[in-house]
Amino acid sequence: MTDYLTRLNPEQREAVETVDGPLLVLAGAGTGKTRVLTTRFAHILLTGRAFPGQVLAVTFTNKAAREMRERVSAMLGRPAEGLWLGTFHALCARMLRRHAELVGLTSSFNILDADDQLRLLKQVMEAGRIDTKRWAPPALMAMIQRWKDKGLPPARVTAAEDTDFANGRARALYVAYQERLRTLNAADFGDLLLHVTEILRGHPEVLAQYHRAFRYILVDEYQDTNLVQYLWLRLLAQGHRNICCVGDDDQSIYSWRGAEVENILRFEKDFPGARIVRLESNYRSTAPILAAASALIAHNEDRLGKTLRPGRAEAGGERISIVSLWDSDEEARMVGDRIEKLRRAGDSPAEMAVLVRAGFQTRAFEERLITLGVPYRVVGGLRFYERQEIRDAIAYMRVLHQPADDLAFERIVNVPRRGLGEQALRALHEIARGQQVPLSVAASLAAEGGQLRGKARDSVRELLQGFARWREKLEREGHVVTLATMLDESGYTEMWKQDKSPEAPGRLENLKELVRALADFETLAGFLDHVSLVMENEENAEGERVSLMTLHAAKGLEFDTVFLPGWEEGLFPSQRTMDENGAKGLEEERRLAYVGITRARRRAIISHAANRRIYANWQSSIPSRFIEELPDSEVERVGSAALQRERRLTAPPAFAGPSPMVARRPRTIEVWEQPARPARTDAITVGMRVFHQKFGYGTVTRAEDDKLDVAFDKAGAKRILDRFVEKA
Ligand code: ATP
Ligand code: MG
Repeated sequence: MTDYLTRLNPEQREAVETVDGPLLVLAGAGTGKTRVLTTRFAHILLTGRAFPGQVLAVTFTNKAAREMRERVSAMLGRPAEGLWLGTFHALCARMLRRHAELVGLTSSFNILDADDQLRLLKQVMEAGRIDTKRWAPPALMAMIQRWKDKGLPPARVTAAEDTDFANGRARALYVAYQERLRTLNAADFGDLLLHVTEILRGHPEVLAQYHRAFRYILVDEYQDTNLVQYLWLRLLAQGHRNICCVGDDDQSIYSWRGAEVENILRFEKDFPGARIVRLESNYRSTAPILAAASALIAHNEDRLGKTLRPGRAEAGGERISIVSLWDSDEEARMVGDRIEKLRRAGDSPAEMAVLVRAGFQTRAFEERLITLGVPYRVVGGLRFYERQEIRDAIAYMRVLHQPADDLAFERIVNVPRRGLGEQALRALHEIARGQQVPLSVAASLAAEGGQLRGKARDSVRELLQGFARWREKLEREGHVVTLATMLDESGYTEMWKQDKSPEAPGRLENLKELVRALADFETLAGFLDHVSLVMENEENAEGERVSLMTLHAAKGLEFDTVFLPGWEEGLFPSQRTMDENGAKGLEEERRLAYVGITRARRRAIISHAANRRIYANWQSSIPSRFIEELPDSEVERVGSAALQRERRLTAPPAFAGPSPMVARRPRTIEVWEQPARPARTDAITVGMRVFHQKFGYGTVTRAEDDKLDVAFDKAGAKRILDRFVEKA
């Protein structure tokens, strides 16, 4: 009966069996926090302390909720039904449906997606006569989202928290937006938590009802809760105080979405007498992986500090590989080859993962795996060529290539918005059918024949003229330049630049990656063929697949083999995060690296490429500082890694050694080729002709300290270290 308890170590067992009163499990990666939570759930049910519906359990993703449900059922020996188990949003949506009338909604309210939200907000702004050109609706959307993350309905937003947005009218617009949602019987994502929290705050009888209903509360990934989630938990736990949260401050990686790791620190204050259990044995990873991850995270200053030691019986294990590669193509080949090799040796693809910092990075690996015929899935996101912005951009290319491609034309004619309503689109279809012409021709006829008027007519004309121009450009300058121009001139890139949603920067990166991918093909037609083949390759068959995902999506998961590519300054740590959040941003990036390494059970392969293509040009990059921070004893450097390391150590002090935490490191210095030379005595000056081993001949346009800007005859403008050129 208590068989499940024997699968725990003494500390874990304590955390499971201390069922009454507040409990915080604070422990590093892979120490069994999730296992503790799941076992505790089953233990509560099996000891008859509560019925399944009396336990409230919060997970970070829906997938984690499904897994927990399965495990609990397995321990119970029957399907666990009627559980309150899910993400904060799912649980709150369910609660809100029961009490919707208390916030002026009915139980059948709609939950709006991001698009609807933005459209609505824009209407509200227009009704308030706000110039939406000057004050971007997405910026206001983000502001409102932040307020909601902090648990602030309009009435609680103080004047001090208002900004100068729309001349101090942000709060008034927030009021109007919430009213509008109410009229429509709708709630946005942020409302789910906010409304429920307000209901619990304002209606003691409802709160009391939940205090009676939920005897036990369980929370996973507690370090990534935001303020409103914390308030919600605190309200619900106030009654019986049987709340158990598990988390790891070193894995707090969602501060950009409003998560506040301070919630962990507050726990003891809010629940005096709370028991704190620390778990120190890691059962997931081999000793070298653990040692490397621990050494890396030790570079963060802002941490509670925890011990982590190997808990698995077998000793030893492979060291972490650090592979240096010439360029991003070679990196994708290396990952593909190793996956193939492991597969041939009998490892299952389901036990392998490629974890990237940014979504756009999956493309190169996807294409490689498709070429090799290795099944894969993109977890927590879409495959590269299925992403909305990529489909849109490809639709633009298809129209460029084949003006009669109606499906593609329809997809983009009003993206970005060109003022074509349903009616206008219907008119285009009628003309197309009536005259037996493609939609693009119908559009032209409609614009000239009066069926389209005003803004719609002007912008459709502009689009069609654009396509004529881009086709000429395609002839003259080739497909790569043309795609970049087309995305800019059509307003498509601008549309995402204006979008202030958290996904927008990723979409812009994907678009750049698309242009990069195009450069691998000689013609536009060749590329479009490739894309249709890639898309066709998508088999629906279940089965064992390699997982590709971002580091953020990998939280809580584990795999035998983990590939961690793209460890380069600027990419990882991400320059954007460091620019926006300084030292705090860098620490969060390092936590992300820690999450990445600790996903591996047996094998972690970190790689970096010395060259990456940006549009049609190449840019060189230097290895991530995180690579430097891994202890030599736990890593094995492959390729020119060893050489690179020496180069870094002998590089000028500005770039190596104990640099200030967020010193911006140049991303375009050359570090991978000839052995270091002694500092030069012959000064190189502006105007001088120089020779570089990779880039050839060029003329110096700027010289500052040891850095040169050189306009290379063939390779274009580059910034390089002066040691790597010779006078020509
Ligand atoms: P993360 O911080 O990454 O979320 P975690 O602390 O939640 O990790 P779990 O995922 O619960 O850790 O456990 C890590 C691995 O160790 C799992 O495979 C789990 O089954 C195993 N494990 C946990 N506790 C034990 C134990 N006492 N004996 C053997 N294996 C264990
Ligand atoms: Mg976990």
